[in-house]
Amino acid sequence: MVKIYVDAGHGGSDPGAEGNGLQEKNVTLQIAKKVQEYLGEYSNATVKMSRTTDKTVSLAARTNEANAWGADYFLSIHINAGGGTGYEDYIHNTLSDTSNTANLRNTIHAEVVKLNNLGDRGKKKENLHVLRESSMPAMLSENGFIDTKADADKMKNATWINNVARGHVNGLAKALGLQGGSDGGGGSQKYIEVLVNSLWTYNTADWDDRAVTVNKGEVFTVIKDKFKVGEGYMYQIKSGLYITASPTYVREYTK
Ligand SMILES: [Zn+2]
Repeated sequence: MVKIYVDAGHGGSDPGAEGNGLQEKNVTLQIAKKVQEYLGEYSNATVKMSRTTDKTVSLAARTNEANAWGADYFLSIHINAGGGTGYEDYIHNTLSDTSNTANLRNTIHAEVVKLNNLGDRGKKKENLHVLRESSMPAMLSENGFIDTKADADKMKNATWINNVARGHVNGLAKALGLQGGSDGGGGSQKYIEVLVNSLWTYNTADWDDRAVTVNKGEVFTVIKDKFKVGEGYMYQIKSGLYITASPTYVREYTK
């Protein structure tokens, strides 16, 4: 298994950067949780999160946890501030451009910028705690500027959050050789892709037991193939929730 430590920047008493009605800690958590969800599509990936709620976690606690777990990769997700615009990412400033960490970052960077709809500010190096104190290859991404309205408007859009997460996951999959995902790999796992802007999921196989909505372009792993429920059909997806099998709303495919 490939162990990936996903670090949602800031949290709790540390909001990170703020602007345009947003706090960095909330945006990083949304992206990180989607990264976790999408990594669940890969059979050989396992994830540990620095936090899954709005709680305070010190920088040392994050790197100590990743090191103790023996993570293979450390991904730290942040939002920028200071009056710029666009995307950039960081590796530690002592690393050469031909280091393994730089090569992994090159692969991830290329996939993130395909999907994030942000200008590309480049691949950078800095002496940051999580990059310095993590004992495995590490990258920190800065996903737009919270104090620039055009970037912040994107952060308020669930589809943008999903796309940023998907870009990171596509990059991790390529860089780390993850298998069985929606963007490659072999096998016969069935997936569905949501075709409409907003679609209900269900807690049980009951059309009245609505859970949460999912968005266009989201992909889910099918764990129970379509079966008849009332007048229609449902799948069960990996989270345990149920979703319509109508081809009007979802597209099924196998990889
Ligand atoms: Zn930050």
